[in-house]
Amino acid sequence: MNEHYPFINPPLPYSYDFMEPYIDAKTMELHHDRHLQTYVDNLNQLLKENPAYQGFSLEQLVLYAPSMPDDLKTPIRNNAGGVYNHLLYFSTLQGNSPQQPSGELGSLIRKQYGSYEAFEKQFTQAALSVFGSGYAWLVRKPDGSLTIRTTANQDTPLSFQTLPLICIDVWEHAYYLKHYNQRADYVKDWFAVADWEQAGRRFAS
Ligand code: MN
Repeated sequence: MNEHYPFINPPLPYSYDFMEPYIDAKTMELHHDRHLQTYVDNLNQLLKENPAYQGFSLEQLVLYAPSMPDDLKTPIRNNAGGVYNHLLYFSTLQGNSPQQPSGELGSLIRKQYGSYEAFEKQFTQAALSVFGSGYAWLVRKPDGSLTIRTTANQDTPLSFQTLPLICIDVWEHAYYLKHYNQRADYVKDWFAVADWEQAGRRFAS
């Protein structure tokens, strides 16, 4: 699924209201069914018009966008990035009880940041520091260590051997209906639904 063109928007693996009360059902519905769907549709349209790239995976499209012809660079970067980023965002949310990172990932977070709380503080600062639209990420670097990154718009932190583990979408569409302009409240709520088990599986992969 989603190995190459035509890309699809997979249904959410949970109900729209599963993140309540932290993320509201209407936001989840619009975010998945409209925002992500638009990136999928735009990407497919671009690839329909440019069959040379129809065999490319999402990661390949993101990584090779800078080498593409000038008229394709930006739209591929934005739309392949938009699909990649949203698929990761939605797949690293969970609506059960709040989790903390455990296992190998949990140990490394505590070792690198001192404590989970210290990590949460740094990650929150990163998410709040994004000016305008973008994301904050926890990624595994090629040497196996962790780092917190931010990206603007639909850019991704993907580079060879850099593995995104979890991300928070801080575009206003991700929180405005419930949290209005209070991004800090949304970030706090996001921590209650962050899927650290999934992030841990990605880390170990
Ligand atoms: Mn979004």
